[in-house]
Amino acid sequence: MNTRDFIELAESRSAHNYHPLPVVIASAEGAWVVDVEGKRYLDCLAGYSSLNFGHGNPEILAAARAQLDRLTLTSRAFYHDQFAAFADGLTDLCGKDMILPMNTGAEAVETAIKVARKWGHEVKGIREPNIIVMEDNFHGRTTTIVSFSTDPDARDGYGPYTPGFTIVKYGSAEAIREAIDENTVAVLIEPVQGEAGVLLPPDGYLPQVREICTSAGILMIADEIQSGLGRTGMTFACDHEGVIPDMYVLGKALGGGIVPVSAVAANADVLGVIKPGQHGSTFGGNPLACAVGNAVIAILKRGEFQARARELGATLHDRLRALPGVVAVRGRGLWAGIDIDPSLASGRQVCESLMTKGVLAKDTHGSTIRLAPPLVITAEDLSWAIDQLAAVLGEF
Ligand code: PLP
Repeated sequence: MNTRDFIELAESRSAHNYHPLPVVIASAEGAWVVDVEGKRYLDCLAGYSSLNFGHGNPEILAAARAQLDRLTLTSRAFYHDQFAAFADGLTDLCGKDMILPMNTGAEAVETAIKVARKWGHEVKGIREPNIIVMEDNFHGRTTTIVSFSTDPDARDGYGPYTPGFTIVKYGSAEAIREAIDENTVAVLIEPVQGEAGVLLPPDGYLPQVREICTSAGILMIADEIQSGLGRTGMTFACDHEGVIPDMYVLGKALGGGIVPVSAVAANADVLGVIKPGQHGSTFGGNPLACAVGNAVIAILKRGEFQARARELGATLHDRLRALPGVVAVRGRGLWAGIDIDPSLASGRQVCESLMTKGVLAKDTHGSTIRLAPPLVITAEDLSWAIDQLAAVLGEF
């Protein structure tokens, strides 16, 4: 079968909920992938930051392989010998008392929402808990999460919607202050809005959110599913402003690009509201997930990838800003949202042209593309990718 055969069969036999670039990947290593025709591409999306430590990272792969041969699933009906180390390592990384493991990002966000509501009921005595969320948020695809999306594609047609959320403008501390009332239990926020186009809030905003939540006695929940675990040059994007949320929501890179692993981390006064039988997941915290998670945590504790993202990120942003045809560059570390002059090309057209030159990237919202390569990328490969973008923009 060639590329066309694979795509035709896939399109005829699966829902069209994605619009992939026409490339069929067969293998990968580090920052590079190879398609079924043998053509190599530099991966500048990294599974939406799930592959921060590279395709086939040897340390993570070795941990997964060793675990595959020993034990893969017990369910949480029993303990297993990888779980304690995972919980201990992740609480240490987050500086929190406890974690609650799940699988996908959306499940971890749902967990955070449920914990905040239960905390509201039991600790604050609130009967109708309400959570403040941001315009242009992206927290996943469940019915509750899309209920407070402001993106019509994500939300329309999926009603009836879950109540209990107030949407405010991202970046405005005043909007949060005004929205807080006697039912507010939490503010749920992405420290960097990835899917919206790598939007950074104004400097000082996150510390203000922290201060507002503390003085109102409500929880600050940071969705670091995409921004966390090294991507921005620190372990958490909140670290850049010295902000410690009450709850971290983690996913994507926690699974090392091998298995879905997500979790929330918080102190015992918050996560302690969940008692046996009140929340869970058959696969959450399974032995394979924990073994992979343990390898990821060990890598993050060494700090080498955070440093790489900082160093390479500085070059990335400087070079992108100088490209003709680029009207804005946002981001932090090895993560860039690039607005292309819309009169030149759409984001999709740029990504299709980049593909023909051997670079895989993804558009988002009109004429914005994002670059988020695996943090293992070399300086030379990164520079080559930017050269390809410059060449593509020169051709429109
Ligand atoms: N939260 C954020 C910030 C995300 O970027 C994403 C995915 O892109 C999610 C949640 C949802 O994660 P998942 O697709 O694993 O459910």
